[in-house]
Amino acid sequence: MQRAILALFLVLLGIAPLVLSEFHVTLLNYIGLSALVALGLVLLTGVGGLTSFGQAAFVGLGAYASAYLTTATDLPGWLAWAGGSPWVGLAAGLLLTAVVAWLLGSFTLRLSGHYLPLGTIAWGISLYFLFGNLSFLGGHTGISGIPPLELFGLELKSGRAFYYVIWVMLLAAVWITRNLLDSREGRAIRALKGGTVMAEAMGVDTARSKIIIFLIAALFAALSGWLYAHMQRFVNPTPFGLHIGIEYLFMAVVGGAANVWGALIGAGLITILKQWLQDLLPKIFGASGNFEVIVFGIMMILVLQRARDGLWPILARLVPEARRSSRAVPQGQALPKKAMPQAGADILEVRNVFKCFGGLVANNDMSLTVRAGEVMALIGPNGAGKSTMFNCISGVDLVSEGEICFLGERIDHLTARAIAHRGMSRTFQHVRLLPAMSVLENVAIGTHLRGDKGVIPAMLHMERTEEQRLLAEAARQIERVGLKASMFEQAGSLALGQQRTLEIARALAADPCLLLLDEPAAGLRYMEKQALTELLRRLKAEGMGILLVEHDMDFVMGLADRVVVMEFGEKIAEGLPEEVQSNPAVLEAYLGGVE
Ligand code: ADP
Ligand code: MG
Repeated sequence: MQRAILALFLVLLGIAPLVLSEFHVTLLNYIGLSALVALGLVLLTGVGGLTSFGQAAFVGLGAYASAYLTTATDLPGWLAWAGGSPWVGLAAGLLLTAVVAWLLGSFTLRLSGHYLPLGTIAWGISLYFLFGNLSFLGGHTGISGIPPLELFGLELKSGRAFYYVIWVMLLAAVWITRNLLDSREGRAIRALKGGTVMAEAMGVDTARSKIIIFLIAALFAALSGWLYAHMQRFVNPTPFGLHIGIEYLFMAVVGGAANVWGALIGAGLITILKQWLQDLLPKIFGASGNFEVIVFGIMMILVLQRARDGLWPILARLVPEARRSSRAVPQGQALPKKAMPQAGADILEVRNVFKCFGGLVANNDMSLTVRAGEVMALIGPNGAGKSTMFNCISGVDLVSEGEICFLGERIDHLTARAIAHRGMSRTFQHVRLLPAMSVLENVAIGTHLRGDKGVIPAMLHMERTEEQRLLAEAARQIERVGLKASMFEQAGSLALGQQRTLEIARALAADPCLLLLDEPAAGLRYMEKQALTELLRRLKAEGMGILLVEHDMDFVMGLADRVVVMEFGEKIAEGLPEEVQSNPAVLEAYLGGVE
């Protein structure tokens, strides 16, 4: 069904210029150009959660680079070879945009919260004024006499001829964006919305993922600018200002910022509406002015109120979903596994660790070891500092003082990502997963470190063998923890206990030799706890080291080889489960404490 609709859409696109008037073809051209920019914003804002008001400036870079190179008569000697050809202009525009975006991105993407959008406004305005004030770019008058595109010896002077160039490029951009999102790198990008802590703990370089989507969005915008310059054959700064940047964001949000087709819907709707309102409103108000902006503003508020995810999901609901049987369990050759350390060897050594939050000492002189092939339990009343200990070990927090060694190497100065790389994997007390992604995709994030294919192969879907193996591995871990029946369901629809189990599968998918579980049994039913106990026993038998934080005494006592008890940040007891259980200090802490 979906394929049929897509095919119909493509056929309609193909015959449109043959049957429509010149005016409507031009309108479709503008829609295509805007959709290309909005598509970048879908990736950046809708998927990656990074808001940019400054995309119009990148459109300007692409337009001006080619406009200048193809029209300047006084190019400096070293640039002379680049003059005259729109195709060289395209390459130059993309290169320039990539460099500028990389520089801007390295600074602005570090900004968090509201500072990022503000930063994009700042550079959006700066670039706009730069276009208007550089005399060799024609100032506010702009550059005219830009040559038309030439393709296979044909000059593309008419709107109809240009139509195909625009739409073929747009559809190609849609295709590579979809491919990218449906890949290992794409999962890393989609994981950005869940916050960086989980993604980094799974080995994702989140700073890199952010720069990648920022660059792609900027390059799509520059491509749109290049097409625009050679279609209009004239540029001035007006279409590259901040208000147009805001319009692009409108398009992405109204259309449905989390889906590539949303960009087309949004661009189509806003462009047609703008055209129509620009005719209609001045007649109503009896004066000319950009009244359509008011209507867009109201529309934006309505969309944000009524349909947070834009119009695309509403349209998509009209089409019946793909049949379940088509969602086959992924199959693929098993991934290579790291060798497990010798059973009984100390793999983790925490020595005299202190962790302070201001005046609060959450970990006070904590020491413990975990051996390969054993379950070490860390117990203690609420607020004792167990999760803090976990965060220090896994690199989510930095220790204030003390040493942590993993597999004989100091790791207390390493990032969470570097530690994950060395074979430690964890779950979170407060589950951190991507509720809108399927269980399979969530677990596949755990396999991130086990693949190495980058962005370009992903865009072209040339990494399918590796991707298949990663997904197959994720599926195996899902089966192993007993979630097979929910593999294709949205992670957010699972019960809390199952979400915890999902996190265990995700951690296992990274092929760890040390597993850190923060209260995995909380929220599990009796049978599920039994199954979890079984699973942990098996993992232990395979030689994995497990550090377990748990509240449920019965669960711990039946499973742990050794126990460390914490209270108020300090270790108050350590030993075999039965020893600890009869320790007066422990009884005092537990019976007098929360439990
Ligand atoms: P547990 O996991 O044993 O219940 P935690 O490690 O979560 O305990 O917390 C230990 C203490 O440290 C608590 O008093 C908690 O309020 C405090 N704490 C934990 N994280 C932070 C933080 N990021 N900033 C300030 N205080 C914190
Ligand atoms: Mg805790």
